[in-house]
Amino acid sequence: MSAAQERPLILVTNDDGVLAPGLATLVRAVESLGEVVVCAPDTERSGQSQAITLHSHLRATRVRERWWAVNGTPVDCVYLASLHLCDRRPDLVVSGINPGHNLGTDVFYSGTVGAAAEGLLRGAPSIAFSVPHGQPAEIAVPWVQRLCRSLLARAERVLINVNLPEVISPREREAALPLSAEALQKRAAALPARLTRMGQRTYREHVEERQDLRGRPYFWIGGPPEESPNLEGEDTWAVAEGMVAITPLVLDISAPDLRPYEHLVAPIPGDG
Ligand code: MN
Repeated sequence: MSAAQERPLILVTNDDGVLAPGLATLVRAVESLGEVVVCAPDTERSGQSQAITLHSHLRATRVRERWWAVNGTPVDCVYLASLHLCDRRPDLVVSGINPGHNLGTDVFYSGTVGAAAEGLLRGAPSIAFSVPHGQPAEIAVPWVQRLCRSLLARAERVLINVNLPEVISPREREAALPLSAEALQKRAAALPARLTRMGQRTYREHVEERQDLRGRPYFWIGGPPEESPNLEGEDTWAVAEGMVAITPLVLDISAPDLRPYEHLVAPIPGDG
């Protein structure tokens, strides 16, 4: 925040597109915390990770006051908004609320997390939110408010990935019980939270080949999730145990210990 004590500037984005319900929920959640600018892809861009558009032009369409739709990736949105569409650098970048978890190695593919990582690269504390498939984005609202307040207060350059556990049980879902947003948020606010590390999440390897109407092959890649171990302290474990998984991420993915790699630079025997 600048010395002028203006309200903090919060940039809101996602990877599901400007029309996604989770984006509107996220905006409502942060509105009371500062001035909000929304800049999101014009279409679904899930799985775009850290992709940036460098070889074609971008257009930003103003859909309403302080809301922009960009024909690019989540990273394009954060870059363009931070440097050009906002009147100053954002004090916080918030991404989501993604319908579906971003756990473990999902983080490498996630556009939701990619957008937040770009926020950090542009200098702002940044945070990504995801809820389980089939659960309303509203369950994240108490955590959005709590965590965003905290990040704004400290103004440290951090990158946080947040995943909510199921708040509506499968039985309740089956019975289609009417649960008000207030009731859900009350439940969600009472959830325990854990600081976690990235867990493991694997998907069945699958390539589906089909034929188009002209007889040429086309493909769908990627299979459903597989059972993977939920180790205590990892994000996958926390959400499976009904806790909010709060995973601080760092952008340095180099191996923490270089010693096992020393053979790569060792002189080759008999070479010279
Ligand atoms: Mn998404």
